Amino acid sequence: MSWENNVRKVTPYTAGEQPQGRVIKLNTNECPYAPSPMVATKIYDLAQQELDGYSSMLRKYPDMDATRLVNAITCVYDQRYFDGADSDEKAAEGLTYDNVFVGVGSDDVLAMAFMTFFNSDKPVLFPDITYSFYDVWADLFRIPFQVQPLTEDFGIKRDDYIGKKNGGIVIPNPNAPTGVYEDPAMFEEIVKANPDSVVIIDEAYVDFGGVSCLPLIKKYDNVLVVQTFSKSRALAGLRIGAAFGCEKLIKYLKDVKFSFNSYTMSYPAIEIATAAVLDTDNFNETVAKVIKTREWTKEKLKELGFEFRDSKANFIFAKHERVGADEIFTKLRERDIYVRHWNRPRIDNYLRISIGTDEDMKELIKALRDILDDR
Ligand code: PMP
Repeated sequence: MSWENNVRKVTPYTAGEQPQGRVIKLNTNECPYAPSPMVATKIYDLAQQELDGYSSMLRKYPDMDATRLVNAITCVYDQRYFDGADSDEKAAEGLTYDNVFVGVGSDDVLAMAFMTFFNSDKPVLFPDITYSFYDVWADLFRIPFQVQPLTEDFGIKRDDYIGKKNGGIVIPNPNAPTGVYEDPAMFEEIVKANPDSVVIIDEAYVDFGGVSCLPLIKKYDNVLVVQTFSKSRALAGLRIGAAFGCEKLIKYLKDVKFSFNSYTMSYPAIEIATAAVLDTDNFNETVAKVIKTREWTKEKLKELGFEFRDSKANFIFAKHERVGADEIFTKLRERDIYVRHWNRPRIDNYLRISIGTDEDMKELIKALRDILDDR
């Protein structure tokens, strides 16, 4: 058929399954706890407002700048990343409204960033084992790319990103699906060495024990730091992500976003996310609980003969010394325990196990013990 010659043909990203019914779901790195109670309160308030009819907000288009959310994020992240820093580290001013961009999950933010900043004939660089959406966006937007192999034990090779002609760089920290975390000093060297391209640091998992590169945005105009509300803020279902960069970078990002779709963020999403982000106590408690459970799980997995690089994310990427990953994956599934497995070179013997509640992880360990005892 001739029209098919003119179709943009792409192979879409494959997300982890969302099984219906009650299963132990450790396959998509969601938070096992409910979000801040402020979320439910806000949803209730929004419902009251709609019931009132006259004050309905849903009949109107939302604020396309998501001003309330951007202000709330600016305030909370300024406090977190700039207050209290050494005076020479702290820029003349902390984070401002013009340093922040928000979107429908960090996937939306990253897709916009790819479209905006990776607009060159030179290849964009990212690791060979990394978030598998990067090559999908590159294909979709016709961006040339070149993957850089991780070391044998899944580390980022700094030198692969230095002195190489490129049209941009994107690296997650911690990396996904490996969970391996690198020091911000390495990212600073990469940013510094590439003044002619934008370096995107995808910090989807940084809240679980890593140090953010966010302060770098005040020192370098070519770094964009991306974070998400889907993991540490337990709001994967609301779809909220954010990017931080110098004013100029954020302005370019907004120009592209507003040339694509102005009203991506709904009024309820903006309001609920604003209420959630201000609840820093809840955020700290949630993160502490996930970290504690992760450390317990590491010990138990080691006792069972699993091997893994240390993880600073809300998941562990592990292989068993004796039994293959696909066999363990299938047997866990038969017990309604879902983890993630990729049939891809270098990682096909690994399972990515998200951190659930203490009860989830006890069930997992019990199931793994049964499976391994049978072999
Ligand atoms: N970056 C990485 C490294 C991820 O693993 C994910 C989660 N799939 C995302 C970005 C996107 O998350 P979200 O769109 O929910 O913010």
